[in-house]
Amino acid sequence: MIRKLAPLLLALAALPVLAQDQPVDVADLRLAQVAERLQAANVGLCRQHMPLTGLILFSADQYGRPDPVRFADGPLAVAQVLPGSPAHAAGVLPNDAIVAIDGQPVAALEPEEGHPLRDAAHAALADHGPGNPLVLGLRRAGQDLTATITPPPGCRALVEVVAGQDGIARSDGRVIQVSWRYVAQWSDDELAAIVAHELAHSVLEHRRRLEAAGVDGGLLGEFGRNRRLRRQVEAEADLLSVHLLANAGYDPQLAPRFWLSEAGQRMDAGILRSGAYAAPRPRAAAMEAEIAAHLQGKPLPSRAEHLLAERDEPWPGS
Ligand SMILES: [Zn+2]
Repeated sequence: MIRKLAPLLLALAALPVLAQDQPVDVADLRLAQVAERLQAANVGLCRQHMPLTGLILFSADQYGRPDPVRFADGPLAVAQVLPGSPAHAAGVLPNDAIVAIDGQPVAALEPEEGHPLRDAAHAALADHGPGNPLVLGLRRAGQDLTATITPPPGCRALVEVVAGQDGIARSDGRVIQVSWRYVAQWSDDELAAIVAHELAHSVLEHRRRLEAAGVDGGLLGEFGRNRRLRRQVEAEADLLSVHLLANAGYDPQLAPRFWLSEAGQRMDAGILRSGAYAAPRPRAAAMEAEIAAHLQGKPLPSRAEHLLAERDEPWPGS
């Protein structure tokens, strides 16, 4: 679904205690891995790009009580590094503070109101030009270091696990958030289906298009034109999601299968009240028809031109 995010999550307390489930760190890594695979494989379909570094960042201002060990070297630090990623190859380690991005001091970054330093740092990283080496100034145990990495480009999106809230899988066009509990419960394949749907909202530039059409992100459930446009963006995201999956080497059938599964239907039940989604069966049937018409027997990567052409078509009445 698409919805304006609450002005960010400033007071996430300490990470929750998760005795019976997987730790938040593991969930972070799994979600980032699935997301980067989709972002990399679909770089030819999106118009906003970012370097895929393999870094998961966090900042002290995201926490009510920041862990003094993890932020010992500065307020912006590396939470995790994806195994095998460019940042991993360059020797960046968890808990390294990032003090400069391409020579610009992190201390000079100005976060948007209500947003943590992490988001401003993410934007600075995302603005790094493709093809050039990215130079990170690091501080580790009080010592200054430099890491030079050459990340491949991918579709631009900040993907994160939300530890403090349940039952969330959403996108505001820039940030994709999935609750920790969902990530912990779902398989990587199920996560891929969800992230592909949310990334499709970004690739299709739904935030920009809804704003241009005068649809306020907060008005879920409203009748009339808003409701019709919301159904339309959800249907478009569903259709593009099977292309994004196929391009990343996933079985595109993961998407209709997920939305028909118990987990998918449970998610839908909450969202359906907004009227934004079709019922699970027609939803899955539309995705299956898209696969049959545009993916089966066709070469990959799919350019999904018939769907992407919509990006530049204003909606009637906008
Ligand atoms: Zn959606």
